[in-house]
Amino acid sequence: MTTNIIPVNEMHKVDPVFGQISFDGHEQVVFCHDKDTGLKAIIGIHNTILGPALGGTRMWNYTNEWEALNDVLRLSRGMSFKSSISGLNLGGGKAVIIGDAKTQKTPELMRRFGAFVHSLSGKYITAEDVGMETSDMDTVREVTPYVAGVSESKGGSGNPSPNTAYGVYMGMKAAAKFQFGTENLEGKKILVQGIGHVGEILVDHLTKEGALVTISDINQDRLLDVSSKYGSKIYTGDDVYGLDVDIYAPCALGATINNETIHRIKAKVIAGAANNQLANELIHGQLLKEKGIIYAPDFLINAGGVINIYSELAKISKEEVKQKTENIYNTALEIFHLSDINKSTTQQAAMSIAQKRIDDRKKEKA
Ligand code: NAD
Repeated sequence: MTTNIIPVNEMHKVDPVFGQISFDGHEQVVFCHDKDTGLKAIIGIHNTILGPALGGTRMWNYTNEWEALNDVLRLSRGMSFKSSISGLNLGGGKAVIIGDAKTQKTPELMRRFGAFVHSLSGKYITAEDVGMETSDMDTVREVTPYVAGVSESKGGSGNPSPNTAYGVYMGMKAAAKFQFGTENLEGKKILVQGIGHVGEILVDHLTKEGALVTISDINQDRLLDVSSKYGSKIYTGDDVYGLDVDIYAPCALGATINNETIHRIKAKVIAGAANNQLANELIHGQLLKEKGIIYAPDFLINAGGVINIYSELAKISKEEVKQKTENIYNTALEIFHLSDINKSTTQQAAMSIAQKRIDDRKKEKA
């Protein structure tokens, strides 16, 4: 699902954990196994300087364990930067469960996973990600308090996806303002790739603003459903990246901007929800800049979900959640300008702001 400088099939040539590029100073990596339920999970705790490591649990049918390890490490690292740039007092963590969420996820497996989370005594707090539902978080809550994003009826903040979609929408408007001179998306041709929990709600915002939305997904039922609800065009060709659009919104899985796709992309703005959209942050971030494409860093504009979850932990109001999410617009614009002035990529500009907040807190604590 994700790639890095070292191809997944060559990862065995370097040390499996500390030697991985994506390891990048992780504080702790926990391997969880339970024979009875078939649970195989990995919890990555990247950094806890700003607070407990929070990040969702992804259940995915990985091709092999290297891929799962690489994914969790990249995702948990991303969470450190995401929470930092959003001004949250949270560190970065993430978990993956290896398996098919449709056929292998059981309440017993989720409870067993919850017990492993509990064993970390709050250093890692889990939440929902791909392959998970709010109801799964409710199951995890039965065995540990260290889970967020549980149902509103159970005192939680509920499904984070609507707020994630709202933040992506804000980030996209900022990118449009910078690239096209207007934040108004009316008449803009926009491809939304992946119309799941987040993608569908993004389509809703965009359609209401009068954008011309094309959708793509591997799930035909979702395509028909979303198309009939919002009147979006369904992409049926075999070169989705080469589609003639103004904006590309990756809302499926990571690493869709890679060596094979980057030269085909016609969009002038990339702004979407997926984590780790750049297969290689340095190379692909730079190539996008050279091509004049404004890339809205994923970890900044998809932070609406973690902001929503934070409200449950820090007891902040819905109004404050909305305000923090809308602020993604301002932060994104600041980053685009910084990247212009410093001749850096937008990803580098965003990461330097996030890293500075972590470094400053570390100094304060010392
Ligand atoms: P989801 O599982 O609900 O939806 C993903 C959609 O992408 C599905 O409809 C799936 O069929 C489709 N898809 C998978 N592979 C595809 C492909 N190759 N081409 C086209 N479509 C494909 O997930 P989600 O919760 O909507 O999250 C979407 C992305 O945003 C993920 O990368 C997730 O990590 C990220 N994200 C989500 C949240 C959140 O609050 N849900 C927060 C931050 C980041």
